[in-house]
Amino acid sequence: MKEIYLDSNATTCVLPAAVAAARQAMEQGYGNPSSTHATGLQAKAMMDGVRQRASGLLGVGDGRLMFNSGATEGIQTAVLSALCALRERRDAGKRIGSLLLYGATEHKAVPESLAHWNRLLGLNLEVRKLTVDAHGRHDLQALDALIGDTAMLCTMAANNETGVISDLSAIAQLLQERGADAYWMVDCVQALGKLKLNLAATRIDYAPFSGHKLYAPKGIGMLYVRAGAPFTPLMMGGGQEAGLRSGTENMAGIAALGAVLVALDDGKTFRSHAELVAFRAQLVSSLERAFPGIVFNMPFDLSLPTTLNFSVPGLSSKELLDLFDAARVRVSSGSACSAAKALPSYVLEAMHVPQWRASSAIRLSFGPLIDAATIAAACARIERCGEALRSSCLLPSALAPSPLDGAQDGVIQLSVDGQCTWLLSDAASASCVVIDPVAALVPRLAAFIRCQHLALRAIVHTTAPADHGVARLALLQELVIEQVGHVDIDGELALGQQRLRRVECGENHVYLLGQRFAFIGTLAPEALTPLLDAALLTPDTVLCGARDDGSICCTVRTAQEGIVPAADLQLDAASLPAFLRQHPDAILVDVREAYEHAACAGTVFEGCAVHSVPLSRLAGQVAAWLQQPQCPLVFFCRSGNRSARASACLRRLGHAAAWQLNGGMAMAEATRHPLAIAA
Ligand code: PLP
Repeated sequence: MKEIYLDSNATTCVLPAAVAAARQAMEQGYGNPSSTHATGLQAKAMMDGVRQRASGLLGVGDGRLMFNSGATEGIQTAVLSALCALRERRDAGKRIGSLLLYGATEHKAVPESLAHWNRLLGLNLEVRKLTVDAHGRHDLQALDALIGDTAMLCTMAANNETGVISDLSAIAQLLQERGADAYWMVDCVQALGKLKLNLAATRIDYAPFSGHKLYAPKGIGMLYVRAGAPFTPLMMGGGQEAGLRSGTENMAGIAALGAVLVALDDGKTFRSHAELVAFRAQLVSSLERAFPGIVFNMPFDLSLPTTLNFSVPGLSSKELLDLFDAARVRVSSGSACSAAKALPSYVLEAMHVPQWRASSAIRLSFGPLIDAATIAAACARIERCGEALRSSCLLPSALAPSPLDGAQDGVIQLSVDGQCTWLLSDAASASCVVIDPVAALVPRLAAFIRCQHLALRAIVHTTAPADHGVARLALLQELVIEQVGHVDIDGELALGQQRLRRVECGENHVYLLGQRFAFIGTLAPEALTPLLDAALLTPDTVLCGARDDGSICCTVRTAQEGIVPAADLQLDAASLPAFLRQHPDAILVDVREAYEHAACAGTVFEGCAVHSVPLSRLAGQVAAWLQQPQCPLVFFCRSGNRSARASACLRRLGHAAAWQLNGGMAMAEATRHPLAIAA
């Protein structure tokens, strides 16, 4: 399965012609454009040619266009230039506004630079956000109210998270009508190659660009400065770029950017606006088929056709990202993702989209080089992702169709914010028991139970159901059940042929599934000694707690003996084939969720079948693996985090050969060594 890259707003691949141009600049045209000999003159001619082409394409007119390292540098230079001029004006006793105003959805480089240079230059102006409307466009009424007191205004041409296009003409008109003397910077990073720009015909003072968002390499950018706009160099030295930006130019980058500009000019390399709109429509219908209930977080008619931003009810951006990544479709979260939790997107928050959407958004973006075959392949993969999700019963209940598979036996761990709920399912009787429900997990529990057509036999608690009572009630309501079973007078509850037994341990209840599993709530393993003494459990009973500290499960023996796992058993992707040849009995275990496993279409490593045991079902499996503690287990996941937890858990439990694949599928794909073969 080839990777499908749909994250072009983050960066793009490099156009083959740009690679060739960079190579030519490094191999043949390697002169320093400041040198006066022929080699230098040739390099300078190439650079001048690129500048001239860029100036024509952007309508630079009598303004200046300098090469630099990218948009972050361009933004610094623009802000520094404007703020130095403001300081001079103020020092000369002239009135300047008190506000440094920036659009609430600007890239972080803008407010950070404003705050930085404002502090460094001792200007002490107020850095203020300009609100945006529900469409993500600047609030012109608010701008009207503030513009009289604005010293510098920073807006963007198109947003990187949503693709929303700003109404720059309306802003320009407002500035003109109010006779505003604010310096105006427009971040044109996402507009390059996608929107028509005629800079000198506008009131814009500064416009930064970045090469790597449009098929040039990273590290090359441009800054437009209007004729007459104040300028202070960020870098001083040899006086390159007509003294505007010292430092020997990035000639390979400039040559590559030049090749991209040629492609823009030729009108043949990149897809037309109409083609891009049609591609977006295709993607949208596949997304809608795959994820019923999907909500798009941007207005289509006011956005670049190359960016989609969406949320799916009941699914976090982390889950969606993992799913897409498993299908080798690269998208990004529309919000800042920390390992544990996605932070809401400040762009979507500024647009006042509901909180759940702001914190579970996905951005899918492509560039104008994309072709119909890639879009068709992406649509097929997206639809496969939807099927994988449906078959794992993880779509929100209202949207979930019938299950594809029957119910399975299982001990399933669901976690949120460090708390765990356990769900025991019995396939033969198609029934289940929920232990210690957590309110935030109720929609997911209900979806799962409903989708698997399980009868909810009981909801039990290891402590008095203080606030868990709320979750209990919510689960019953979600499932439209009035009553569920109880533990009988012998302290037992039937789950098909299995018996779940309640025993007291101090103030707490412990639930035992034979001697194989004990659900101990918040009890420490040491507190279980009375149950051990009474032979209700064995030192090897798998203990499942209500706190998710990352360890998954333990046993009394390992807790008591404090077994320190032997050395970290890590395998690199490159050494996996040799390892598998040496250990033909090794078991490869994919600990990603079932929908991720399904989305990657039956991965096989070096002809060795892969078992799918999601981390959430690991506890149910450990006892079987521990029967053969010498038989190598190789855990893998997307990036190596989940497999590290799985292998650590097994090693703590005394398994001598629990390995993990370093860097996960990401590294396996990168090395292409144990090639993931799609069945
Ligand atoms: N502005 C916008 C809108 C962007 O999307 C980005 C890149 O993410 C930047 C600025 C920063 O660009 P660069 O990576 O060239 O510094």
